[in-house]
Parts: sequence; structure tokens; C-alpha cells
Amino acid sequence: MTVLLVEDDRAIADAIIDGLDDHGIAVRHVVLGSEAIAKVKDPEITIVILDLGLPDMDGTDVCREIRRFSDVPIIVASARETEMDRVDVLELGADDYLVKPFGIKELIARMNAVLRRASGSPGTITHIEVGSLVIDSRTHEVRLGAESIQLTPKEFELLEYLAREPDTVFRRSDILRDVWHTTWYGTTKTLDAHVASIRKKLGDAGWIESVRGVGFTVRRVR
Ligand code: CA
Repeated sequence: MTVLLVEDDRAIADAIIDGLDDHGIAVRHVVLGSEAIAKVKDPEITIVILDLGLPDMDGTDVCREIRRFSDVPIIVASARETEMDRVDVLELGADDYLVKPFGIKELIARMNAVLRRASGSPGTITHIEVGSLVIDSRTHEVRLGAESIQLTPKEFELLEYLAREPDTVFRRSDILRDVWHTTWYGTTKTLDAHVASIRKKLGDAGWIESVRGVGFTVRRVR
């Protein structure tokens, strides 16, 4: 594993680099957001640890920019600790959020958890079919009949999560926990927005049915 550390505070960066080095984890360190966006294209990078307050741009913009072309796991590490910040960065496609200060052991545990989720455990379903809807978990491709559907990474994750068990009603709280990795119910608006967007892209709201007071289920439409 090679970590891309995006951090402008020298002392914090040194502590993280030394701590990860003690565990045999290689670190590439950059200070600027623009450097991070360039460096993350290097295939050796397996995970990004991203500070939000950077000299040249906001870390949230760095996160958004990376998500345009890469699904590389991103852990935001920041001193900002309001829930809005946390939800914001998760919405932007970050995989987890650590509030400074944090210990190396906690960081490594989070990194391992994020990488496990990203790679999928052995025996994970990689191909889901619900009628004419086909979801490929390896390539992140979604097709509806012959048509390719372009989803954001989070939309993909949500649809994949629901479609694994069609006709099963998933509770909102479970979806937030498993897809957004949060138990903060303010995120429920985000969930609704993602469902609305997926329905629009699939061209038929019937693919994802709302079950009032409970949650959502994927139904076979055609
Ligand atoms: Ca900073």
C-alpha cells in the first residue's frame, strides 16, 4: 500500500509519515491541492489522506476534483469537526473522515476498513441483474438494456447496495450506515437526492420504490 498524504502542516505530516513508516507503509507527501490532483494519477497510490485547509485550494475541492477521474479511497483528516463538514466531504465522495488529532493506530484501522470496502471481500457479487438493469461491481458499469448509465460513485454504491436484494426494503438508517458510513440523520436529505438522481438517470422512478416511513427497495421495471 502507498499512501498519498496531502498535508501542509509540517509537524503533522512528519508525525503521520513516521507513524506509517513504523508500520511499513510507504508515504508520498505533497503540500498543495494541485500537487495532490496530479500525483493521485500515479497508479502506485492506493489511498489518499487529505487535509482540508491547504495553501492553494480547499480540500473539499481537491476531493471533488479527484472524484471526477478516480475512485481511489480518500480519508479526509481535518481539524474541522462540525457535522456539516463531515457530511459535506462524504457527499463529495470521501470514504471516511478523521478529526484531528488522531493516533496512528486509528488512522491505520480506518485505512484498512476503507480499503477492505473498496476491494470487496472474496465471494462478493460482482454482477447484478434486475430485469434489464445490469450492474457490474468490478468495472462500476451500469447498463439498462443496451444503454450505458453514467452514475456518480456514490449513486453507483447506493444502487448496487439496493439492487443486491431486489424487493427487499432497506431501512434509511441502514442505508446511511452502510453506504454513507454515518448515523447522522441529517444525511437523509442527501439520500433522497441520490435516489431522485438515479431514478432520473434510469428514466423510470419505479426502479427505486419509496416505502413510506421505512426506506427504499429496488423493483424490476422491465
Ligand atoms: Ca492544513
